Parts: sequence; C-alpha cells; structure tokens
Amino acid sequence: MLIETMPERAGHLEPANLPACERRTLPGVISQRACLLYGARWMLAAIRDAVHLIHGPVGCAYYSQTVRQKNYKVFSTGLGEKEIIFGGGEKLEEAIREAVSLYPRSSAVLVYTTCAAGLIGEDVEAICKQAAAALGLPVVPVNCPGFGGVSQGDGHDVAAAALLEHFIGRGSAGTPLENSVNILGEFDVQGDLKEIEQLLQRLGLNIICAVSGRATVKNLARAHRARLNIVHCGRTGRWLARRMEERFGIPWRKVSFFGLDATAAALQAIAAFFNRPEAAAWVEKEAEATRQRALPYLGRLAGKRVALFFGASRMGSMAGAFRELGMEVVLCGSQFGCQEDYTESRRCLGRGTPLIDDAHQRELEEFWHRYRPDLLVGGTRERFVAHKMGIPFLVFPQETSPYAGFNGFVHLAREAAALVGAPVWRLSNNGLLREEGEEKMAEYVRYVERGKKENGRSSL
Ligand code: SF4
Repeated sequence: MLIETMPERAGHLEPANLPACERRTLPGVISQRACLLYGARWMLAAIRDAVHLIHGPVGCAYYSQTVRQKNYKVFSTGLGEKEIIFGGGEKLEEAIREAVSLYPRSSAVLVYTTCAAGLIGEDVEAICKQAAAALGLPVVPVNCPGFGGVSQGDGHDVAAAALLEHFIGRGSAGTPLENSVNILGEFDVQGDLKEIEQLLQRLGLNIICAVSGRATVKNLARAHRARLNIVHCGRTGRWLARRMEERFGIPWRKVSFFGLDATAAALQAIAAFFNRPEAAAWVEKEAEATRQRALPYLGRLAGKRVALFFGASRMGSMAGAFRELGMEVVLCGSQFGCQEDYTESRRCLGRGTPLIDDAHQRELEEFWHRYRPDLLVGGTRERFVAHKMGIPFLVFPQETSPYAGFNGFVHLAREAAALVGAPVWRLSNNGLLREEGEEKMAEYVRYVERGKKENGRSSL
C-alpha cells in the first residue's frame, strides 16, 4: 500500500494500474470535491448573454457565483423556510420575470436546481416551459441538485446535455462553414483561448463557438455547422463531441494545447484534417523557437520533483508538460477523474507514478511528506496545506497568465521556475519531518541574528 489509509479507500490509491474512481466519497471524509450544481456552473457560467438563476437558498448562489476564480453575475430565488414547506414555484416564476426585466436583452434564462429545490420535488421543467412561452425566449432547466451525483463531473454532464438539447444547432440548417471549428471543453482561463485561437488562425481556421469560454446563445445555435470539433478538456467536451457527431455528423479530435509537444501534435492533427501539409514546417519552427525561449528557466527545474492534484482530464497533458520542463512527476491525482481520464494519464505517465482518486486532506498531507515534491500543482483548496508545509504551490487552473499553446508553455516554465527558486522557501521547513524542520528553524534564527548584527537591523 502507498500510504496507510482506510480499507475502503485502498483501491483509490494505485501505484501502477488504474485507481478506483467515479464512486461516492465515503461519509465523514472531507473530500476536495464540489457538488453537482458547481459542476454545472463550471460548464455554463461563461455564457454571456443568458440570465443565470439559481433556484435555491441564497447560499447556493453565493457558492456557485465564483468559477475559475472569476465572479459571474447570478440571480437567486432565495428559498427560505416558507418555500421549503409550501413550495417555491411562485417565487421561481417571479424571479424569472424579474431577472428578464432587469436584463431585457438576454437571449435565454438558465434555471439551476439545487438540493432544496430537488428535495421538495418542484416541477421546475413545467414552470420553465410556461415562462418561456410567456417571455418568448428559452427558459432552460438545468437539473443539478448537489446531492444528485458523485461529484462535479456529473454536473458537467447535466450541463452538456442541457446545451445539446436546448442550444446547440438551434439556428438555421445549412452546409458546414468552410475552415470552421468548435472547441469543446475550453474555458478561456487567463487568456488560454486567445493563445489557441491565434494558432488556429495561422492554419486559416475560425472558431464558431468555444464551449463555454466564448459561448453565447447565438454562436451555440450555429455550432452544428462547424467542420470539426476540437475537444480540449476530455471530461467536459468528449460527451458533447460524441453526441454532436451522432446528431450533426461533425467529426472530432481530442487534443491538448498544454505542453510543447502536445501543442505541436494538436496543430499537426488539425492541419492534417484540413489538409494543410504546408503547416508542418511552420509548427516545427514554432516549437523549436519556443524551446529556446523556455531554456533560461529549465536549469532551475531540471530534476525537480512535482506532484499534481487537480480537476480531472488535464492530468495526463499537464504531466507531459512538466516532464518537458525536465521535472520528475512523482504523484498524480484528481478530485473526480473518470476511467477514461485515468487511462489517458496512465498511458502518459507509465506504471511508475502513483495515481490517486478523490484523495482527502490527510492522505494528501501524508503523500506530500512521503514524496517530498519540490512543487505542488493543484486547485485552490490544496494551496493552504501546501503553504503550511512549506512547499511551493502553483494553482491550476492558473491565476496569472495563459498556459495553453506555445506562449503558454513559456509562461508555465517561467512561473514554475520562479516558484521553485523563490528565496522564501529557504526560510520554511520545506515539507521536512518535524525534527528536520526544527533544525531548519534554528538555522533561520541564526541567520536573522547574524543579519541583525551585520546590518545593525533585521535582515528581513
Ligand atoms: S450541495 Fe446542495 S446545498 Fe450545497 S451548494 Fe450544492 S446545491 Fe447548494
């Protein structure tokens, strides 16, 4: 066994094969997962021209208004005790009318159900239908009560189904638009989409719709006319790509724009689909130029150990990117990965790197003590534990600059190198065992005292 854990969790920590996954978190375990509502918001929050109405207590709206560190405007029906007992249907009707009157230029209303609305068994669908007829615009229920699934991943699926049923392909039928693509599972974190778009433009391609980093009701309606669907995040895009292939006959390619080789391979695959043989030389040249730009940062990273723990399907591609930076991936895990995600990660990492599923804080701490990574990469929930342990931490999805594409690779190299080499970690116990940490602390006190003596003041 990798570390000591509860017997029911043993299969989720896998040294060489695929971990158990897609199971409910054990009661009592403080997992790093989010609820179904949050998963649906992750998928849909960025749709600009829709009103987003959370049908539930106000806390659910507060919880789900911030997605990928960005605040989005949401409305709430603010259900209270009275509605939980007598029903909240009237309040929902009123809230839909009020939200649309405040934003009359909205193209649709998305009504997200929460645990409270799910428990009282409200017929949200019927209310949405009536409201749509009265207001003359789509009012779409997103059935995502928090308790309704295993993790936020199920919320992604509910949201994807809502997009397919109510928005995608609602525009006029027509032939496929030349040189056009959709990107599925791309959320434009810190400008990632712009980086990808610039590369696609070099191939002469236009993006009709990026789901949902640049999705609007209008461009979703035209999305069925793309020649190709590019799936960037498998967990949020693969299902949609398969259904769009069945329904509209659009082929798809799963690619990644994280990492140098992955970006080059993605562009080559897309160029091959659009029959652009001349692109190969340009892609190779760009990749080589990027390698040179990243070079100054690689010295600090060479041989350093990195542990990854975040969402789901980026595990494999990010592991590949860190390896290209010369780092050793010592551990890789996700909060809610599915079988496909872990299979892809295992393929990329080989059998020597442990894969962990739905790890909780105590397990993560023990892993980090045991593996002593020089850098941790994870979501905001893991950040504070890492800092307390004195381990440099990189947030992913990132908070600073784009990591996608060739430029993104250089940003990743620069930011990882800055973190690993930051002097502040010399003053921390850097994840050492307590005795070693105490020795480090004594060393730090001597360092401060020496500085005071030499400068006549604190060296800090
Ligand atoms: S778990 Fe339920 S109550 Fe909690 S935020 Fe999610 S939908 Fe709301």
